[in-house]
Amino acid sequence: MLLREVEYAKPTSVADALRLLAANDGARALAGGQTLVNVMKARAASPDALVDLNGLRELRGIELAGDGTLTIGAMTTYTEILESPEARARPILGEVCATIADVQVRNRGTIGGNLCSNDPTNHLPPLMAAVGARMTIAGAAGERTVPAEEFFLGVYLTAVGPGELLTRVQIPAGTADGFAAITLGVDGTCIANAAASVEGDVRVALGCVDAVPVLLRPSSGDAEAVRSAVREAGLEPPNDVHASSEYRAELAEVLAVRAVRAALERRGG
Ligand SMILES: Cc1cc2nc3c(=O)[nH]c(=O)nc-3n(C[C@H](O)[C@H](O)[C@H](O)COP(=O)(O)OP(=O)(O)OC[C@H]3O[C@@H](n4cnc5c(N)ncnc54)[C@H](O)[C@@H]3O)c2cc1C
Repeated sequence: MLLREVEYAKPTSVADALRLLAANDGARALAGGQTLVNVMKARAASPDALVDLNGLRELRGIELAGDGTLTIGAMTTYTEILESPEARARPILGEVCATIADVQVRNRGTIGGNLCSNDPTNHLPPLMAAVGARMTIAGAAGERTVPAEEFFLGVYLTAVGPGELLTRVQIPAGTADGFAAITLGVDGTCIANAAASVEGDVRVALGCVDAVPVLLRPSSGDAEAVRSAVREAGLEPPNDVHASSEYRAELAEVLAVRAVRAALERRGG
C-alpha cells in the first residue's frame, strides 16, 4: 500500500530536530524506517510529518571509554554495531544484532529505533535491561538519563515523550552475557527470548511475555533458581497464532536457563 501524503524534514542538528518535533504534535522521528514506514503503509500509524534523523552525525557512532563503558548513538545501525571493534568490548551486542531479521533490516535499523518502538518481540529491549543500559533523552528542557528498567513503559511506549529524542545509550563494561530465543524460522521474529548477564548479580530479562521486558534477579545462576524466579514472576504471556500463553511461559523458563548458562560459560563458571 502507498503511504498517505506526509510532510518531511531533514534537520541538520539535534536542536533543529527537537524544534521541529515540538512544533508539530503530529510529527514523528524517522530513524531506519524499518518499523515506522511499515506501520504507515499499513495505516496503523499516520503521522502528519516525518523528522528524518539520518543527517544527524551527533546521533551516530560508538565510543569506548577507558573504564569499558560503551556509548552508542541512537542512530547507529545494527550493522555498524556488529562490525564495530569498540562494540566487541561487550560481545553480546554484535552477536544479537547479527541475528535481527536480514541484512537489509540490519543495514537500516538503528538501536534507537529498536528501543523507541519497544515492540515486545524486538531483540534489544530485553538485552538492554539485562546489561543495565542507561538511555539519554533530549527535549526542550535539556537532557535526562534513565535506566533501562524505567525506559520501557508499555507496548510501543517508552520514557521518550512527545517532542523528545533518544540520543544515546550507555552500556557498562562486561562480557559475561547470554541471549537465547525461539524464533519464527531462522532469524525471524521472536516467539520468546531471554537475555542474561552475570556481571555481579544475575540479571535476566524476558522478552515477548509482557508489554515490557520482565527483569528478574534470581538468587543464583543455578538452573533451578532461574526457573523459580521465572515462575515467581507470575507471567501471563500473550496468546496468539504463533504460540499459546502456556507455551510462551514454558519457553520463558527454558530460555532464561539457556541465557544464564551461556553467560556463565562466558565468565568461565
Ligand atoms: C522484515 C522485518 C523483520 C524484523 N524483525 C525484527 C526482529 O526479529 N527483531 C527486532 O528486534 N526487530 C525486528 N524488526 C524491526 C527492526 O529492528 C526495526 O529496525 C526497529 O524496530 C526500528 O528501528 P528503526 O531504526 O528502523 O526505527 P523507525 O522504524 O524509523 O522508528 C521506530 C519508532 O521509533 C521512533 N524513533 C526512532 N528513533 C528515535 C529516536 N532516536 N528518538 C525518539 N524516537 C525514535 C520513531 O518515531 C518510531 O516511532 C524487523 C523489521 C522488519 C522490516
